[in-house]
Amino acid sequence: MQIIADVGGIPGKDCRGFCKYCYFRKVKDGDPLGCKSCLPGTFGCEQCTTGVRESKNEFIPPFMVINSVKTSMMMGNYGEDDFKINISGGGDVSCYPYLLDITSAFSQWNIPIHLGYTSGKGIDNPQMANDLISHGVEEVTFTVFSTNPELRKTWMGDKNPQASLDALKIFSENCEVHAAAVILPGVNDGEDLRKTCADLEEWGAKAFIMMRFANFRNQGLILGNEPLIEGVTPHSLQEFDELVRSINQEFNLRVTGTPLCDPENNTPFALAKDNDKEYLDILSDVTSEATIISGNVAGPFIEHIFDIMGASDLVNVVVVDQDISCLITQKDLEDIDLNELKETVILPGRAFVHDKKAEEILCRDGVDRIVARGPDKLSVDGEMSGTLSQEDVLKTELIAFQDLIEAINFFGVRKK
Ligand code: SF4
Ligand code: SF4
Repeated sequence: MQIIADVGGIPGKDCRGFCKYCYFRKVKDGDPLGCKSCLPGTFGCEQCTTGVRESKNEFIPPFMVINSVKTSMMMGNYGEDDFKINISGGGDVSCYPYLLDITSAFSQWNIPIHLGYTSGKGIDNPQMANDLISHGVEEVTFTVFSTNPELRKTWMGDKNPQASLDALKIFSENCEVHAAAVILPGVNDGEDLRKTCADLEEWGAKAFIMMRFANFRNQGLILGNEPLIEGVTPHSLQEFDELVRSINQEFNLRVTGTPLCDPENNTPFALAKDNDKEYLDILSDVTSEATIISGNVAGPFIEHIFDIMGASDLVNVVVVDQDISCLITQKDLEDIDLNELKETVILPGRAFVHDKKAEEILCRDGVDRIVARGPDKLSVDGEMSGTLSQEDVLKTELIAFQDLIEAINFFGVRKK
């Protein structure tokens, strides 16, 4: 159980300048995307306008961060052993000017601390790692990118790359370190990636999260910011899957990938794997007809799962050209061939489309379809998956699929 200590921060601004590969680079102000929280009569709210761009989230004063953790602790029932304070924000916690002040305050409560996301760019002196450890930091999620300081300097804009790497080594030797890297083809893949993993293994890091670089709209750059880096073609989903699996075999690290591939837990969609098929028997029967809209990663898995359940005559999956289903927008819906849709359409819960707009687009051929939302998530992402047991993953997916089936049976046209 982790209590979030949100220190705020704006990507690029509060992490000493943009990394060249940062998802938030080149984001422009723009029209709201619309989302599930929109009130029926309004279009565009905090979440889908500034929230998704993380453009208004200034650093929060330390006393407010400390007070909000205190309040959460008083309201929750936190007696368990596995309890931590997770310090994270929109920028980079190592750049938060009061990081040592808040960890020092937390240390008085004797609660272990997780540095939720740091790129290390705020570390000018590796001694900072020792200070943080002495304040109770036990877990660190650290974007390494590469253990070659030159590459950190060029691609992350890290002014003191050696200090950051020395700090990472100290963290790895003393805490549970989840190292992360956005994988840029021709830059930090290939030999450099192997060297980085070998260093992490030697220093004692526990896990390595590989993030596929996104450069195009259909890879998730939905905020008018493609391409991030001219001329770079990121790994295809299949290439990336293979790369994650080979790194996992070569190194003694808990390797996971995002947007796909946890070779140990079989996520995303462990339920689609042959050896986990029997779990699907405990789900309710599908009794109604519906179309599920999904993205390139999840779509084929969902289709396969409904096939195993023997429900593919009732449920079809229409895959739009957007890798991550949560990032499906109005434009993706506009590209769908409406002939493929049944009379009930289920959208991903978190799709960035206003409900009314989705209905308008998906009924514009004159068919009066019901457009509803499914669960927010049907599986777990690579960052999460690496921290969960296989049992937890299966449980999470089963709960989500049960919710999805209930939505289909409730909103769909009844056939059984
Ligand atoms: S440190 Fe993280 S948030 Fe900041 S620019 Fe780099 S990738 Fe973006
Ligand atoms: S789209 Fe979502 S976030 Fe934006 S106003 Fe509507 S409900 Fe709010």
